[in-house]
Amino acid sequence: MAVQQNRVTRSRRNMRRAHDALVAGNPNECPSCGELKRPHHVCPSCGHYDSREVVARAEVDLDDDAA
Ligand SMILES: [Zn+2]
Repeated sequence: MAVQQNRVTRSRRNMRRAHDALVAGNPNECPSCGELKRPHHVCPSCGHYDSREVVARAEVDLDDDAA
């Protein structure tokens, strides 16, 4: 196992961690429902991609099972 040769000061540690922050993505507005969604991904709220529905919403499936 590697053992560090020199103590890393609080200053050095914090300078290293200055670049570790998570950044939010680049959300796009869904053209069919207007919700923010990740680009090149199916909209999680309406299931549309490229202006057509590709994933049926869960509540629609539940209604079909009950009927
Ligand atoms: Zn949508």
